[in-house]
Amino acid sequence: MVSYRKVTKSFGDHTVLKELDLDILPGEKIALIGPSGSGKTTIARLLMTLEAPTSGTIEVDGEMLWHMQSRGKLVAANEQHLHQVRSKIGMVFQHFNLFPHMTILRNVTEALVHVLKMPKAEAKQRAMDILERVGLKEHTNHYPSQLSGGQKQRVAIARALVMQPQIMLFDEVTSALDPELVGEVLDVIKGIASEGDMAMILITHEMDFAREVADRVLFTDGGVIVEQGKPKEIFENPESPRLQSFLARFL
Ligand code: ATP
Repeated sequence: MVSYRKVTKSFGDHTVLKELDLDILPGEKIALIGPSGSGKTTIARLLMTLEAPTSGTIEVDGEMLWHMQSRGKLVAANEQHLHQVRSKIGMVFQHFNLFPHMTILRNVTEALVHVLKMPKAEAKQRAMDILERVGLKEHTNHYPSQLSGGQKQRVAIARALVMQPQIMLFDEVTSALDPELVGEVLDVIKGIASEGDMAMILITHEMDFAREVADRVLFTDGGVIVEQGKPKEIFENPESPRLQSFLARFL
């Protein structure tokens, strides 16, 4: 489904990812764990084409996201193609970025109506189904300012899900939440994971969550994947000293 080959990403002389190889299978749930600054968000941003790799290739469904042009410069594959690839991917960030002047329902239907050109009634039906799934059916006519942080994050999840992506990226979606609101958001993601054929990339500092949801856990440090494996192996038998000391912080 997704494959990174020898992907290097530098900002100036700071190399954030070093020759990363990563394959994600259709429907696979992977968790990326690792210290702050180890390159987890950059892995996600490259897939969303929000950043270009310095070198290496990324493919989604066998299609390259970037092409090499003259003088070794990478350029995005054409806009239409990028649009197609992006439509396969949904992303939820730490900050919800909802439209404050729109109701919850409109936040969720906006892209269906204006990007996919779906008739309004159909978009509303699809949005209502998703809002019910994330437990927000009663709030469809409210505005974001009337919701708690956990509810806003669930709207952001619904807004991504409604586009029926093949891959969902969750980048530290609970980091900005008060501790008592974290559980409701993680429960929604667990529900989606258990239902779905969707692949998921979960960037998280919630180790119990990673353990419960992921098929595979990858530990990144210093721009490389230091260790990866099934949750049980990673959390119960970490091999590398770096992973051992990282996990010790969560005990
Ligand atoms: P965190 O857990 O804190 O979110 P992370 O593992 O997701 O960290 P990244 O956000 O991928 O790490 O960042 C990796 C490194 O790249 C950091 O040192 C960061 O400062 C740097 N970096 C990321 N984006 C840029 C940018 N646009 N310009 C310069 N440096 C950047």
